[in-house]
Amino acid sequence: MLTPIKNRTVIVTGASKGIGKGIATVFAEQGAHIMVVARGEAEAAGAVAEIKAAGGTAAYTLCDVCDEAQVDAMVAKTAETFGGVDILCANAGIFPQKKIIEMSGADWDAVLQTNLKSTFLCVKACIPYFEKKGRGRVIVTSSITGPVTAYPGWAHYGASKAGQLGFLKTAAMELARYNTTINAVMPGNIITEGLAGLGQDYLDTMAASIPLKRLGDVKDIGYAALFFASDEAAYITGQSIIVDGGQILPESLEAIESI
Ligand code: NAP
Repeated sequence: MLTPIKNRTVIVTGASKGIGKGIATVFAEQGAHIMVVARGEAEAAGAVAEIKAAGGTAAYTLCDVCDEAQVDAMVAKTAETFGGVDILCANAGIFPQKKIIEMSGADWDAVLQTNLKSTFLCVKACIPYFEKKGRGRVIVTSSITGPVTAYPGWAHYGASKAGQLGFLKTAAMELARYNTTINAVMPGNIITEGLAGLGQDYLDTMAASIPLKRLGDVKDIGYAALFFASDEAAYITGQSIIVDGGQILPESLEAIESI
């Protein structure tokens, strides 16, 4: 049993849908105060309404996580709304598919900025608030794609997700003086609005390639993030955990077909 994180303030970027909403829901169920961060107002307000309807505490701030001034303002507003910042879940991300031969510099920049630069900006903006509290937690949503696996069309995405893991190792050392840990969850294929956009064929073939024979649920990622945020994980930093239903395990097509 983990010590409850009741009344802790949690920023979840990209919490208006998908994995971010799953993380926000799991943390809200534990009594944490959630700041939902996204660009689209209707979905952000919808996520807050769902959390409140289930008895949780949440507010939203519209913010483009690529923009330093907007990120600084978002973190300041969170502290003002809930009286500080305890936990950052740096989760917002995009995964447009384009093969290298067709990829422009602008395509590359958009993915690297949204997925990787935003992680740095959000962590940096939270440091003064962690220092004020005397402790902090950061949980980064990376991916198996890039650090472990590959998929044509996602060279920029894979680089951004591997980059997050490179960033967090040095960040873990620099954040230690603020009694703050930083760790990553590496999801496999989790059913979200963004993933559904890749089409039913993608979802079906992907589920068939996973030993547990299903895509993950957003709350599967939320529970892993909750562990890293718990008091019991206080001595774990600079690490990552794969949550993928065993997807990276099969050595061949025959291996997965034989189970
Ligand atoms: P999703 O369903 O498309 O949701 C993405 C969320 O990020 C939305 O709330 C979106 O809101 C927000 N967002 C995107 N760009 C933003 C920006 N510039 N500023 C602020 N918010 C922004 O995606 P998902 O599948 O849940 O993925 C979430 C994270 O998990 C990503 O980092 C992704 O790489 C990672 N991941 C997902 C999977 C998977 O199978 N789904 C697997 C591995 C890793 P707005 O568009 O309104 O801003």
